[in-house]
Amino acid sequence: AMKKPRPELKARPEEKPSNPDRIDDKWRPPASITEPGSSPETYSMGRKLGKGGFAVCFEGRSKRTAEIFALKVVKAKVEQKKMLEKFRTELQIHAKMHHPNIVEFLRAFTIEDYTYVVLQLCPHGSLTEMVKARSCLSLPEVRRFMIQICGGVKYMHKRSVIHRDLKMGNIFLDAHMNIKIGDFGLAAVMADEQDRRTTLCGTPNYIAPEILSKSGNRGHDNKVDTWAVGVICYAMLMGTPPFQSKTQQEIYSKLRGLEYEWRVDSKNYIPHQAKDFVASCLNLNSAERPEMDDLVQHDFFTMGAIAEELDPICLKTTPTWL
Ligand code: ADP
Repeated sequence: AMKKPRPELKARPEEKPSNPDRIDDKWRPPASITEPGSSPETYSMGRKLGKGGFAVCFEGRSKRTAEIFALKVVKAKVEQKKMLEKFRTELQIHAKMHHPNIVEFLRAFTIEDYTYVVLQLCPHGSLTEMVKARSCLSLPEVRRFMIQICGGVKYMHKRSVIHRDLKMGNIFLDAHMNIKIGDFGLAAVMADEQDRRTTLCGTPNYIAPEILSKSGNRGHDNKVDTWAVGVICYAMLMGTPPFQSKTQQEIYSKLRGLEYEWRVDSKNYIPHQAKDFVASCLNLNSAERPEMDDLVQHDFFTMGAIAEELDPICLKTTPTWL
């Protein structure tokens, strides 16, 4: 029988719709905001980009440079001290990440009740929308996205940062259709082994088996990200996550039994290198999962074409590779 996750361990804020710290759906920021301090920057607010568990994102144009950024707005008057600390940790971790495939963090400031985080704008949304519109992606696109994702994650892991919430919805596309990993809300710094948290986190579909089992308090290591990389690769190739199910219980039970299959279909050929790549990530034994260093060298990337350039038209239409 399966153990139910303890309810207090459900960390994702999305799952608590009545949270008082959430920003109201109808809320609009002021038409223009000026950063406090000695070298103030003023941003005029544009369209709403999206909304997450705690944050709402808007476009913001710098009055000085006319450059457009993503402004993530979070209520600063956070009741629980814990959430505030968590948010600070997110910003501290994110501010140290500088990589072509990680959303660039520029600055953060607080005005009255709201904290504004200035991020590099990813105008093409996340992989979730692209995969939804396309059903599934072509092999050259998947190779391009996966090598960039693995490169970004490899960079984090080298700096002892585990993302812990890698999923298509947190992986954005920039103007040139390059991957930008975002949302460091659950990122943890691995340095202090004893301080590894054992909180249940991540979204059901992407969660690694060792997070579910309470056996031993090993906490998480960076291999939870490797698992998620496997889930993302499968989802891009097939259009749905590998352990897709109606209920969370069913997802967990499939995941623990490693029950997933490659549906064969005349228009969707999956080479064995791709299956092998996914299988190596979806290993129930986290110690046996490859490091990002190994993954970037995988045959999947060398045996077959990689999309070196990608037109944004591919967001909606399957490209024809000549
Ligand atoms: P939360 O941390 O509360 O989950 P997110 O970081 O997921 O918030 O942001 C909420 C939404 O804002 C995202 O789903 C996405 O649509 C949009 N968004 C976030 N960051 C960016 C960005 N850098 N560029 C464009 N849109 C973004």
